[in-house]
Amino acid sequence: RDGGNGSLLDGLDPDQRAAAETTTGPLLIIAGPGTGKTRTLTHRLAHLVTTGQAAPEHCLAITFTRRAAEEMSERLAALTDQARRVTVTTFHALGLRILREHHDRAGLTADFGVADDAQRLALLTELTGDERQGRRAATALSRPDPDPELAELRQRYTKALREQDLVDVDELVTLTVEILDADPHLVAAYRDRYRWISVDEYQDVDETQYRLLRLLAPPEGNITAIGDPDQAIYRFRGADVGFFLRFHQDYPGARTVQLTRNYRSTPTILAGALQAIAPTSLVPDRALVAAGHHPDNPPLGVHHAADEQAEASFVARTIDQLLGGSSFHSLDSGRADASHGDHELSFADIAVLYRTDSQARALLDALTRAGVPVQKRSHDRLADRPGVRHILRELTYRPGERGTTGERVVDRLRHAARAALALNPDRDAEAHAAEIHSALDLLGPLATRCGHDLDRFHTELATGAEVDTWDPNADLVSLLTLHAAKGLEFPVVFVVGCEDGLLPLRWPGAEADEEQVREERRLFFVGMTRAQRRLYLSHATRRTRHGSSQPTTPSPFLADLDPALCERIGDPAPRRRPRSQQLRLL
Ligand code: ATP
Ligand code: MG
Repeated sequence: RDGGNGSLLDGLDPDQRAAAETTTGPLLIIAGPGTGKTRTLTHRLAHLVTTGQAAPEHCLAITFTRRAAEEMSERLAALTDQARRVTVTTFHALGLRILREHHDRAGLTADFGVADDAQRLALLTELTGDERQGRRAATALSRPDPDPELAELRQRYTKALREQDLVDVDELVTLTVEILDADPHLVAAYRDRYRWISVDEYQDVDETQYRLLRLLAPPEGNITAIGDPDQAIYRFRGADVGFFLRFHQDYPGARTVQLTRNYRSTPTILAGALQAIAPTSLVPDRALVAAGHHPDNPPLGVHHAADEQAEASFVARTIDQLLGGSSFHSLDSGRADASHGDHELSFADIAVLYRTDSQARALLDALTRAGVPVQKRSHDRLADRPGVRHILRELTYRPGERGTTGERVVDRLRHAARAALALNPDRDAEAHAAEIHSALDLLGPLATRCGHDLDRFHTELATGAEVDTWDPNADLVSLLTLHAAKGLEFPVVFVVGCEDGLLPLRWPGAEADEEQVREERRLFFVGMTRAQRRLYLSHATRRTRHGSSQPTTPSPFLADLDPALCERIGDPAPRRRPRSQQLRLL
């Protein structure tokens, strides 16, 4: 696998191959969901380094989430050994890396820290003189376009951070851009180091990330941007799809490759998704054809429920039916009932996607009650969990110790937890111990993933590692927000809560913002295109929002789907099963 380039490119179709073989100069790969963008990017990098066209040390691949970076690293390592040395990173981690190397230019010591939410709040409370105002400032300052009246507070905040040798997470990229902007020699040095740059999900870059890329990649540089403007869903964080659309102005000699074959979804799912995005698509003449192998092509299942509880039990019963009642298989003779369900499906093949995290409660309750094992992707920051700070305070590392250490991170963590336990706080010792133990459990997976690298462990925590117990390989049904589902795929997908005001989301009293509705439509498109074989869309007549049950109307996005593609489905009857099994499940 390592020598001949044939094997690396064999798994690509002609368009993907053309992209992978374009190894120099700027390249824009514009392609819809499921067309193999991520796969092409990975194979292209592996091809570059195995053919000796680029040294892995000169390659930089940027992704938006840590999870995506990890996945790409794993895929690269599986393709070829040399590719292990390619730098795969998020923008935040790249900023942190550059700042560590040139900390003095930013007025920081070599051991500067990244402020977590608690430190940020404490500082802002001190500066505003009141916790409520501090909280408000913490949210307001991190908006993409903060109120000009906050400029003075921001200045004082930044000064206070520096006095404590800290940077804010939001500054990791801005500060990096500042120090690079100030010194063309430094820019030249990084251009020399990162001669090949690839960016996945380029449609979601924000202005500072864009400026960093412009500094790192000259107009004639080897930069590959890959993405889909119709999947731009991070405007609220300051992302601007305009940067994708102006790639050719920034890199005038750029080549463009379009990928049009979708290997993921059935023709019906794809047709539905294209109808949903069509009214405000950013890609003129979008071409997308189903190229995967699909033995059947069922219609889109549309369900109308009375309220969120009824919707949740619809999901539970449908899952039970799809799996032929296999929620009970572990208890009886396995997949015995051949007359029902999709027998090759398992829980891990199913995802339930929703717009807001608050929708998860009813789903979790109903699925658990029905005996369907689930996992929910959490979005809480690990660094903010109780107990984590106590452990981290004991996990000090000596100056100059950055980078790889001899000891395993997991062992150091245990050691630190023991020290934290011993420090008895001025509070209930039992509660303290419980907090430390649960924090240790939460930190465990991250520590394991960090292959002795304490520096990486700290970096990931500081740049917002989430409490992530979601395991794509576990045989559990996944509950995810639409945002968290980006880039993923599942044989069966439910998109719940397809109602006006929820999808598209609108806050009560807020004015309808057309650009916002377009972004919500793209989010719906992202959700629909996660599905490989079956897609269910549901909505309820009433829903509890902001504490009260309110009548709702179906999402206008549903009206854009050709009824011929859809099948209205009622509540599947609960499958009968022996009473003794039902009891055991409870
Ligand atoms: P998204 O826009 O959702 O991020 P993507 O364009 O990045 O999608 P991938 O996730 O890379 O798409 O690929 C989608 C699916 O299609 C994966 O299961 C992948 O293995 C498969 N696939 C991609 N290219 C091919 C190919 N040439 N032959 C067979 N399967 C392919
Ligand atoms: Mg992708």
